[in-house]
Amino acid sequence: MKNKKFIYQFKEGKSEGNIQMKDLLGGKGANLAEMANIGVPVPPGFIITTEVCNYFYQHKGKLPEKFESQFKQAIEKLERITARKFGDINNPLLLSVRSGAKVSMPGMMDTVLNLGLNDKTVIGLTKKTNNPRFVHDAYRRFIQMFGDVVLGLEKKDFENILDKTKKKLGIKLDVDLKVEDLKNIISGYKKLIRKKIGRSFPQDTFKQLEMSRDAVFESWNIPRAITYRKLNNIPDDLGTAVNVQVMVFGNMGKNSATGVGFTRNPANGKKEFYGEFLINAQGEDVVAGIRTPHPITDLRKEMPKVYKQLREITGRLEKHYRDVQDFEFTVEEGKLYMLQTRTGKRTAQAAIRIAVDMVEEKLITKEEALMRIEPQQINQLLHHVIDPKAKLEVIATGLPASPGAAVGQVVFTAEKAVLLGEKKKKVVLVRNETCPDDIEGMHMAQGVLTVHGGMTSHAAVVARGMGKCCIAGCEEIRINEKKKKFSVDNIVIKEGDWITLNGSNGNVILGKVPTIEPNLTGDFNIFIKWADKIRKLGVRANADIPRDAKTARQFGAEGIGLCRTEHMFFEKERLPLVQQMILADDEVSRRKALTKLLPFQKEDFKGLFREMKGCSVTIRTLDPPLHEFLPKTKKEARSLSKKINISENKIWTKSQELHEFNPMLGHRGCRLGITYPEITEMQVKAVISAACELLKKEKIKVFPEIMIPLVGHINEFKNQKNVVERIANETMKKYRIKIKYLIGTMIEIPRAVVTADEIAAEADFFSFGTNDLTQMGMGFSRDDAGKFIRAYLERKIFKADPFQTLDKEGIGQLVILGIQKGRKTKKDLKIGICGEHGGDPESIKFCHQVKMDYVSCSPYRVPIARLAAAQAVIEAKSFGKSSLSVSVGK
Ligand code: PEP
Ligand code: MG
Repeated sequence: MKNKKFIYQFKEGKSEGNIQMKDLLGGKGANLAEMANIGVPVPPGFIITTEVCNYFYQHKGKLPEKFESQFKQAIEKLERITARKFGDINNPLLLSVRSGAKVSMPGMMDTVLNLGLNDKTVIGLTKKTNNPRFVHDAYRRFIQMFGDVVLGLEKKDFENILDKTKKKLGIKLDVDLKVEDLKNIISGYKKLIRKKIGRSFPQDTFKQLEMSRDAVFESWNIPRAITYRKLNNIPDDLGTAVNVQVMVFGNMGKNSATGVGFTRNPANGKKEFYGEFLINAQGEDVVAGIRTPHPITDLRKEMPKVYKQLREITGRLEKHYRDVQDFEFTVEEGKLYMLQTRTGKRTAQAAIRIAVDMVEEKLITKEEALMRIEPQQINQLLHHVIDPKAKLEVIATGLPASPGAAVGQVVFTAEKAVLLGEKKKKVVLVRNETCPDDIEGMHMAQGVLTVHGGMTSHAAVVARGMGKCCIAGCEEIRINEKKKKFSVDNIVIKEGDWITLNGSNGNVILGKVPTIEPNLTGDFNIFIKWADKIRKLGVRANADIPRDAKTARQFGAEGIGLCRTEHMFFEKERLPLVQQMILADDEVSRRKALTKLLPFQKEDFKGLFREMKGCSVTIRTLDPPLHEFLPKTKKEARSLSKKINISENKIWTKSQELHEFNPMLGHRGCRLGITYPEITEMQVKAVISAACELLKKEKIKVFPEIMIPLVGHINEFKNQKNVVERIANETMKKYRIKIKYLIGTMIEIPRAVVTADEIAAEADFFSFGTNDLTQMGMGFSRDDAGKFIRAYLERKIFKADPFQTLDKEGIGQLVILGIQKGRKTKKDLKIGICGEHGGDPESIKFCHQVKMDYVSCSPYRVPIARLAAAQAVIEAKSFGKSSLSVSVGK
């Protein structure tokens, strides 16, 4: 660390850093450096590297040896540039100290502004600016921020003093406070600090700076920052950089202002200048949501020259970065400064539109556009919207800050939202304004409604990032937190009452309103078709009933990769027949019950086939243990007895006979079909006759693929294959028609992986059942792992839940072995995956790398899988060949 550079300086036109240095300088720092390099007016400053922050943590709050001298030199340099002196009575230099990690964590860490003011510099600055109101306003803000961020006092204690003074004076807005009022508030603040910490507010400006710098380092590990990192998968060891910059003031009077904005609309993606500003204010006023800001287009009238320059600079920034920019600016007595620029967070809807527009504008390539969307983000597009046919009682309207619909019971605190959310209750969080501490409550809520704040308020920004419905600035409603209610005119809504939010138009609606599934059209179709052109993996759906198959088709599924037939058995009219079949005393009576089930199964398959015409449909024979269909209690046995006319005693005895200690490893999968071949027979008959009838009568062609579950030994497969072939031939003969069908197997037992070469000699296809393969490969019961996986994640034993994201190093190696062995026997063996991992972007990329033919996932994940599969191709192209060292054939 000895000769290391800890500090990077920048000023308009020149900088020691650039945008490539985000690891070291943090996102904000690297962007400031880059802006300076391309001649954007930024206030001069310097960046303390993330390495210093990490050193600070590793050495219990100490700083590296040579740091101090570099730090002092950096300040001296700022003094030279500005011709001011830090701590000087006559011509003081004021600074801002801001956090900035590599990845943006909006509002999660701390900032101190107006640093360098004390009882003496205040006098000098007043003389210099001839603006005592501004100077005392800045001093008041500084003490409050310093007290909160650095000294760890409660923000609300400061706000109480401010509010009491305003109330006494009958004033609503801070800007109406006079110099004398501000002086009184300042002395109240100082007293509060002395009382709370037993020391005075520090007057030594260098001490103020050191303490603020360290407080920013420390803010990396405050609870809300830790929570944000956890929710967004941001590593804990990145550390934050500290940005020290010369203060510029938006609160110097009517020709000063501050604002935030986006180069395009982040809610819907429209190419329009978008943002908000406040005259005579500091940045915190805009985002805090206390004064409702003006739309940025009004700046054109208020400050036409500044507006023109702002449009030119932000347009230049968008072209330079080739992406939407989220920027902050300040106007100090008519001069514009850019304080920040970063990639703008946007809703999925906006992201798609922006990506498509930017390709049309030739700003980015199609491949870049595809890489810009996180596959998980597509989830947001699948959000429910309010049913247009529903009758609505709209009680208020706010700003449509984040789209979608939220239906839930009203809560007024983030804690309550967490409490109820954990109990799987649906809640809507209603607040005057949200603050970063509310993040967990927002995460748990269906949607967020705030009284104050604009489109860029904390609530709006965070909700959009989460893909959560949000209405902000709904000033018509009044919250009474104590009495746990809010009111609009004469309507009173209490905690626990149901409301619905429409995040697309800002309407707050009374009661529970029906919602409908979204429709993916327009830009999304253009976008996803680019993905389809690039991807190599097929995308199928796991669907068991025609309705799901239809949804899957609408989302672009190219077939069904898994139909779990048992789900058809749980339907109302069929369950009693299944139960009779299980309770049968002998094969004859079992066959009788199965004969009654046959027409239902056939109709089920016809329904599926109609939805999937022209596609392959993989149908799996019965998988779960039979006792799942029988009553669990005596009471249930009694009630079933009345329905199916079999004695309660018999039902109960049979249920107990079938009871297993470990049903996941018990009499399930192909073991059922082997012991009761008549079940497989009935299912095959239903599949093949459905296909024959559709082809004959409705000219609908499908390609059934019959799949045998839980095979571990080649002889198990051969046994079931014989049954399938025999019944299929008989059935086709009966219809005097031939259809093409395949017989394959799930690969979900480790023994099947190891003997995949033998199995491939008999099977037409493999489908990896990675749910069971993970269960059996890791020895983690699927039903019980939830109890300890969380602890594993918290203790960092696992990076991800192996039942959600495929464990590439372990279970993934089994998959590779299975593919290698299978394709050694049959070069072109068709291979897919139908475990939950088939819908997880990370796992899908792995499936591409190991050259599977298709993934199959739940219908709602189909669009996500289409994109992830395309990204896998693009990534492999940019990072060279697959990172896997093994060859997987093909
Ligand atoms: C699997 O095991 O991955 C699978 C798809 O089957 P199921 O989840 O039905 O056991
Ligand atoms: Mg399985």
